Amino acid sequence: MRIGIIGAGQLGQMLGYAARELGQKCYFLDPSDAPPAAKAGPVIQAAFDDRVALSILAEKCDVLTYEFENVPIEALQDIADKVPVYPPHDALRLAQDRLTEKQLFEQLDIPLPKYHRIDSVDDLRQAVEAIGLPLVIKTRRMGYDGKGQFVLQDEEQIGATWQELGGQALIAEQWVNFDYEVSAIGVRSANGDVATYCLTHNEHAAGILRVSRAPVTDESLTHSATIYLRALLESLDYVGVLALELFVVGNELLANEFAPRVHNSGHWTIEGAETSQFSNHILAVTSATPGSTATLGHAGMINLIGHIPDAARDLGDGVLHDYGKSARPGRKLGHVTVVADSAEGRDTLIERTIRSVT
Ligand code: AMP
Repeated sequence: MRIGIIGAGQLGQMLGYAARELGQKCYFLDPSDAPPAAKAGPVIQAAFDDRVALSILAEKCDVLTYEFENVPIEALQDIADKVPVYPPHDALRLAQDRLTEKQLFEQLDIPLPKYHRIDSVDDLRQAVEAIGLPLVIKTRRMGYDGKGQFVLQDEEQIGATWQELGGQALIAEQWVNFDYEVSAIGVRSANGDVATYCLTHNEHAAGILRVSRAPVTDESLTHSATIYLRALLESLDYVGVLALELFVVGNELLANEFAPRVHNSGHWTIEGAETSQFSNHILAVTSATPGSTATLGHAGMINLIGHIPDAARDLGDGVLHDYGKSARPGRKLGHVTVVADSAEGRDTLIERTIRSVT
């Protein structure tokens, strides 16, 4: 099958490599010059909302998918009658706005932090009264990796915060003193088969994912997360890979957000699972049955952010994935995966890798 992928960054690149291994061909659409996925297939260089380019992509392909959730939804609607687009429209629409995303969690009985819709400075005052401080103020749209976020610590900051962020749709969220963060990644195929990966433990710094570890072996958390993930996949009539990010507070999980796509916290599945999230996404969108999500030991993933030191090219125990992007502070340029027989062995390899690459 020919698969069109909107976005040709590293996620597109890894989807393209997986598709190639499965004997499928990918075409990409992306405005950048020489994006990472150019190594995995031809790229139509155009804006994401370029309707002509999108319809050329739709004509070339049997199915379309995307590697990021800020795809302009109106542009996709025009081509939806020409070619199937997966994950489905509703998943993309709901994930693009933090308010609708949270309303969906509520409908599905997925616990989440307290939140308040903010359209005015009065709403901000009410949020402080209802939820208390500190509060995390987030833009409802286009936020990722902690971008578009502000922590309100003090009532005196309300006016200044509104001056700074007002004028765009916002949401205020309870500050969660979580013990740690996890993600639950699952896949659903067009014929309704669902497979879920083990929980992944994620460490962020400055809003950006730094290190992931899998599996998280807590059975009760895994049980709850699987129920939430399945509820999302079923209710959205979902096709493809979906990642749900959650805060762990004691024995409870609170949903932070979901991504209707393959996810950075699932990169370890390339070496650490029987079928990677990328292969499973390709299998799902091409109407095949997902492959086994069983883990192959204990895996760790270290993101390489800002630059890739030479030492990362010579790691005996780690596999380097270099996306081929130009270096820039804060930019995800690659990652290293390690796999060991035990959690302790894996953690030793992670520490060693971090020491080598920093
Ligand atoms: P997000 O863009 O919502 O995924 O947020 C990025 C990161 O910021 C999360 O992975 C958390 O580490 C942190 N964060 C986001 N929301 C909250 C919150 N309500 N309480 C505490 N930390 C948060």
